Amino acid sequence: MTQPLYPVGLRLAGRRVLVVGGGTVASRRVPALLEAGADVLLVAPEVTPALRALVDAGRIGWLSRRFQPSDVDGAWLVQAALDDPEAAREVSAAAEAARVFCVRADDRHAATAWTPAVTRHGPVTVAVMGGGDPRRAMAIRDGIRDRLADGSLDAGPSTVEPGVALVGAGPGDPELITVKGRRLLALADVVVVDRLAPGLLLDEVRPDVEVVDASKIPYGPARTQDEINRILVDRAKAGKFVLRLKGGDPYVFGRGGEELRACVDAGVPVTVVPGVTSAVAAPAAAGIPVTQRGVAHEFVVVSGHLPPGDPGSLVNWPALGAMTGTVCVLMGLRHLPAIVAALLAGGRPADTPAAVVQDGTTGAQRIVRAPLSGLVDAVTAAGIRPPAVVVVGEVVST
Ligand code: SAH
Repeated sequence: MTQPLYPVGLRLAGRRVLVVGGGTVASRRVPALLEAGADVLLVAPEVTPALRALVDAGRIGWLSRRFQPSDVDGAWLVQAALDDPEAAREVSAAAEAARVFCVRADDRHAATAWTPAVTRHGPVTVAVMGGGDPRRAMAIRDGIRDRLADGSLDAGPSTVEPGVALVGAGPGDPELITVKGRRLLALADVVVVDRLAPGLLLDEVRPDVEVVDASKIPYGPARTQDEINRILVDRAKAGKFVLRLKGGDPYVFGRGGEELRACVDAGVPVTVVPGVTSAVAAPAAAGIPVTQRGVAHEFVVVSGHLPPGDPGSLVNWPALGAMTGTVCVLMGLRHLPAIVAALLAGGRPADTPAAVVQDGTTGAQRIVRAPLSGLVDAVTAAGIRPPAVVVVGEVVST
């Protein structure tokens, strides 16, 4: 095959696409067809559970039998997702006779159409194909995807509207931000960061981006929040796309709700991008699942910034002591002795397994394990410092 390919983008909405074969190749191809709005008809004696779920949900049609040449009638495109070259040849021949393009999983060179390696960047689709070895197209696609994601490939004037995005940066490992969060970060005109947002992510922002370090705002905590809200609203009103990067998830003890309200009250459009919360991720990074079949059917995330018994505390400490499930305490180091005492007083056995995970998911991660009654001494002896998550429950020893 010497001629180059002629690339096109197909508008498949409402148009029949015939997929022959019900195995893993078909499972991988069907979602993109559905995303494009295609009317997918599957022909295969058997299908994978994933395809079966789409059939049951009414999202695709299924003829549970072998292919017949008349199946191509009415199709705009055919996908032969078959390993058996003989069966694929039959599909291909029927498509050819009907002048319908046919993609073949078994033999690209015998196919009349190729599917490219694809990456999407907001509304832009990048499709790469050709080059003999498909791994080459995929490698080029990956390179473009990574450079678009980190902003080192300039995608042209930003298509984002002015406004604010409250983005969860994840627990510390810079790879634990979401794909959406990272894409928006590359588009931001202003980035307002927290102490806990992974610093490495900021290495990626363009030099012309204004970075505001919220932890350096020189007022008390209450004034500081007002000041952050003011920065978000003022910059957005000046026509900027402002990204508020917050550690973990924006709504888990992150004051994301207050920032959302400030933007809404000021008439500034705001998007929220959830993040991986340290409440789950720090234990996970230490090998502790917050739930476990037969061990814990619940986990509770609480803030320990106020000690048990403090009139301002909204935490029901006696209830946490009485439960058998997992308790994850954030901001719990300073008042750890009072927290442990409250859990014991509430009925938690003294030998309940417990752990503290400092700097979870980062290179500085440290873990201390001890029975609940010995946790304070163990943490003090190890010199554990914030940020750390305290985990109490049987899951710690699973
Ligand atoms: N919104 C954040 C939590 C903010 S409150 C989230 O969803 O993760 C700050 C507390 O989070 C810290 O005091 C600590 O308890 C916890 N924390 C944040 N990052 C952490 C990390 N990498 N390891 C352990 N605890 C962490």
